[in-house]
Amino acid sequence: MASVSLSKKLSNSRYNNWVKASLAVLITKEGIEPFVEEEIEQFQQKCLTDICNNHGLPSGTICTNCCTENVVNCPTNKICNVKHRKCSYHKDSATSFLLAGCPNKICHNFKTEIQKAHRYNGPSYKNTDAAQWCSKSWEVAKCFTPPDGYKDVVSASETDFNGVNSVIINCECFQTKVTDDLSKNGNIFDKGREIGKAVRHAPILEVVDNDLKQYFIDLDNLLSDTGHLISDNNAKLARKRLSELQNDTLLIGKDDVRKVLDDVAKVAHDNIKTQGDEFIKEAEKRKLELIETTKKSLETLGNKENITLAEVDKVLKSSIDELEKQTKVSLKRIKKATDKGVKKMKTETLKESEAAVDQVKQAANEELQKVSAANKQKEEEEYIAAKKSEYKHLFHTIQR
Ligand SMILES: [Zn+2]
Ligand SMILES: [Zn+2]
Repeated sequence: MASVSLSKKLSNSRYNNWVKASLAVLITKEGIEPFVEEEIEQFQQKCLTDICNNHGLPSGTICTNCCTENVVNCPTNKICNVKHRKCSYHKDSATSFLLAGCPNKICHNFKTEIQKAHRYNGPSYKNTDAAQWCSKSWEVAKCFTPPDGYKDVVSASETDFNGVNSVIINCECFQTKVTDDLSKNGNIFDKGREIGKAVRHAPILEVVDNDLKQYFIDLDNLLSDTGHLISDNNAKLARKRLSELQNDTLLIGKDDVRKVLDDVAKVAHDNIKTQGDEFIKEAEKRKLELIETTKKSLETLGNKENITLAEVDKVLKSSIDELEKQTKVSLKRIKKATDKGVKKMKTETLKESEAAVDQVKQAANEELQKVSAANKQKEEEEYIAAKKSEYKHLFHTIQR
């Protein structure tokens, strides 16, 4: 039988690139957070001032009584629909749509302002609590994030890079502070969003050199937009840190490394829960193993808060070595299980040998499931096909 290598070696340098890319995303996000929070707060205040002026209300009027359901009419696409005459969103009198509007004349008008400011006319009301629109500006920001996964975040720092970029792109108030055209696909924040997604959802935790180089260029472009960020101190600091990261001179917080690993572990856990595809599940499990191993190696560096990139590299390398060792043990187990099955088959009677074939197949398949991941699907299929033909041959030999 032609030997098929089951374990494609994980690349330390590409894993290192992935960690760098994740840190670059984190640094960039931290560089724009204060800007986004400030702008959203100004937008919130402007909405309130305009509402008071346009409706003859005393300045400073607010409302904290209306919930989101009260201001979102029924039915609204993607939030609620009236099936069998009963809406599960507007479920009782407290959560019904207020036809007459907010008793304080604020909330339904605020909703109109948010709607008008949304570039694609589709605020994410699912995320937000309208009762807090007047008091917490990030609840307003959440109308401009993607619809899922932001319900519980209360600040820009708790929101991921994708969410923060979406606020900038979707809320038209940002255009006055951004030179790049936010209505165009591929604008600097759109690119940032894509980088965030690519890193977070990398099928294996690797980034090739050229991609990493481009990420650094794109993230630096984002942070140096001439509308505002070019002169923003937080953005300036982020650019400096990005350049140090790229040149391997940055001191990195151990917590930051943990943060990027935990973030992608969360994605992997979600994928394992929701994915039907066994190979993807296996790949995600393998990712989790690598993350766990890396976090353990990180602990060997002792109590210091900040570490050098050379130390990070060492940690990553030892994690990969450890995982390779584990893979080799798994491969040995496959071989052992296969040999045992074949031996059994040879000693079984003809009648029982068919069951023995299944047993061998099953044992080998079970072990394969445990290894998989970085080794791609194709390789495994080849292996299984080779094994199957081997069993077939053996089976015929025994029958004869
Ligand atoms: Zn409804
Ligand atoms: Zn109200």
